[in-house]
Amino acid sequence: MQNRLRTRSMLVDWGICQDNTCLLCGNAVEDRKHLFFDCDYSRKCISGISAWLNIPEFLFNIDTSWKYWGEKMQDPIKRKVCYAALAAVVYQIWYARNKAFWLKVIIHPRAVCRVICAEVVKRCRQLINCKWKRQHCKWLYSLQVSCCS
Ligand SMILES: [Zn+2]
Repeated sequence: MQNRLRTRSMLVDWGICQDNTCLLCGNAVEDRKHLFFDCDYSRKCISGISAWLNIPEFLFNIDTSWKYWGEKMQDPIKRKVCYAALAAVVYQIWYARNKAFWLKVIIHPRAVCRVICAEVVKRCRQLINCKWKRQHCKWLYSLQVSCCS
């Protein structure tokens, strides 16, 4: 992901905004690196999802996590599901951040995780095709029943 998101540190640089504090934790400058996943808030989200997928996350770095998750999931179908989950994490953190920006509402990280789980399971069920083996379907089903709660 390139540095195109209009984070507050960028808005301050452009003179559009005066406060560059992270909207989700209020503890640091909101730039891309902080938001994904240095921020306590986003760490809670990614920790919830990585526990759900059984991938021990310790890097908390958007650029290296992709590679790490890919290596952890050797099976190409499972890897696709994990990438979909990571993409959903990024999307939902950005969504939560925008909700905080525009509506001054902070969504609880647990609620973010629940949305991600449901969304990933729903989307991946639509991807089931003849390449999927029984074990993949079982795995996806187990993810569905263990959705973050
Ligand atoms: Zn933060």
